[in-house]
Amino acid sequence: KARKRFGQNFLTDYSIIEEILGNIQVRPGEHWVEIGPGQGALTAPLLDHAIRLDIVELDRDLVSLLKKKFGDNERLTIHSADALSFDFQALAADGKPLRIIGNLPYNISTPLLFHLLESTSCIADMHFMLQKEVVDRICAEPGSKKYGRLSVMAHYYCAAEHLFDVPPESFDPAPQVTSSIIRLIPHNKPPVSVNSVEELNQVVVHAFSQRRKTIRNSLRNLLDEQQIAELGIDPTVRAETLSLEDFAALSRNLKKDTE
Ligand code: SAM
Repeated sequence: KARKRFGQNFLTDYSIIEEILGNIQVRPGEHWVEIGPGQGALTAPLLDHAIRLDIVELDRDLVSLLKKKFGDNERLTIHSADALSFDFQALAADGKPLRIIGNLPYNISTPLLFHLLESTSCIADMHFMLQKEVVDRICAEPGSKKYGRLSVMAHYYCAAEHLFDVPPESFDPAPQVTSSIIRLIPHNKPPVSVNSVEELNQVVVHAFSQRRKTIRNSLRNLLDEQQIAELGIDPTVRAETLSLEDFAALSRNLKKDTE
């Protein structure tokens, strides 16, 4: 029986599984990681290919079930672990980049994305099933209502592409909302220059924490109005109009001794 607290909605629609496989193009010799394999809806077809596969599942009962189903496959390693604190980089110790996939538990999707974005140096690409709402926020461009911290930080690390939508009926139990598949490909090198990701994040968090305010107000503790203007950015606009390059420029020019 599906457990709500683990965000369990099992994919039961074979046409969707086929569509995912068509989009990801698994090739022999690759190293894949699946987050939240559940009952193995994606695990089984992945294992049809000659790849190495690591799967990370939190629910111990499902881990037992997965061991019974797939335990004798020597190309598979089952991790009974929390993906939020899992060390993905350790899996890439041999230098081969990871391809990551997951029909993610929606209740932890944002913190999990941030955890993975910080490991992008060892990741070739990521394909996730997420709430459509979250995919729209990641892919949003400046000027849109959905544009926010997730959009800016995701674009700092990755190119993002919305592939297709998946209706609630494709799952058991059916979730309340439409889902989407997203592809994230880490940049080889960051598209903008910053002194540190922490400073970029600090500016973005401040700017969007009061998204209805002008940046002159929301960034008051980080930069003076005049400093903002000198960067060629209008201090009276709201955060949602700024590009990644604007946020990067702001972060490179923080006042000293900001909190
Ligand atoms: N991949 C399966 C499918 O498509 O049918 C299951 C998807 S279900 C939406 C999410 C899965 O993630 C569940 O199996 C759940 O137990 C697991 N899960 C929840 N929280 C987790 C965590 N923190 N770390 C790893 N797995 C987690």
